[in-house]
Amino acid sequence: MTDRAPTGARPPHQPTKAPGRVKEIASVSNPIVKDIRALGQKKHRDETGLFLAEGLKLVIDALDAGWEIETLVVGKAALSGELLSRTAARTVAAGADLVEASAKVLEAITRRDNPQSAVGVFRRRLSRLDRMAPAAGGLLVALDRVRDPGNLGTILRTADAAGVCGVALVGECTDPFALETVRATMGSIFAVPIARVTEAEFLNFRSTFKGLVAGTHMEGAVDYRTPDYGARPAVLLMGNEQAGLSPTLAAACDTLVRIPQAGRADSLNLAVATGIMIFEARRKALTL
Ligand code: SAM
Repeated sequence: MTDRAPTGARPPHQPTKAPGRVKEIASVSNPIVKDIRALGQKKHRDETGLFLAEGLKLVIDALDAGWEIETLVVGKAALSGELLSRTAARTVAAGADLVEASAKVLEAITRRDNPQSAVGVFRRRLSRLDRMAPAAGGLLVALDRVRDPGNLGTILRTADAAGVCGVALVGECTDPFALETVRATMGSIFAVPIARVTEAEFLNFRSTFKGLVAGTHMEGAVDYRTPDYGARPAVLLMGNEQAGLSPTLAAACDTLVRIPQAGRADSLNLAVATGIMIFEARRKALTL
């Protein structure tokens, strides 16, 4: 490993933080690489408050949205690319470290054979549920114990596309900052406010919420197209992949709706059902 002073020029009006260091790392046993790799585990993400975002597009999305970057790992061989080198200079100017890594190091960090040329280590950011309450016509999505990282990533991406004001993770949910989830969001993790709450905290929020709370349920008596979601602020509650909506949460809803099905499938995939519900609930707001 070699340390040297950064070469990137600091853009005007940047915070006064000192520029980050530039390090060249070729060995997968380097302690910095080990620490970054460890962010693949939830325990380590929880301890450090850090997570990984893979790919130049995601890194730029995050920086543009003002997320705090700690370290940017780039493929040394790809640094001749203009966008990558500009992003590297921007990162160092913002006070984060730049690691110029060998292909082997990038493979080890991303656990992939054909790794992306950039991986950012970002500081996690969560919102408070009481700050995410939707205004009239707005929609908040609440997920009861979502377990599948791909489902959660897809839902965050869909929520972003439809202009949802936030996603609440209720109870024991999969980690939104897991690499697989972040990948599936395609950058929307940086755009949609996310809150993590217990069921009791959600019920407390619900007790003061004046809008419509619509739950989705396989036993729902109401067609999902019936409620007027746009008339007041709305919360959409989606159930767990295996168990559906908990009886306590179902009892807290104003209405339980169902998406009609015709074939043999017991139910829809959670992310698909959430997509259908979000676009129905946002239909008026999304009229082109
Ligand atoms: N075995 C579970 C049950 O009986 O509730 C199935 C859960 S389903 C895979 C996961 C979640 O997706 C459900 O809790 C619900 O929120 C939503 N969902 C799936 N299909 C649905 C449908 N046809 N109508 C309404 N919601 C649906």
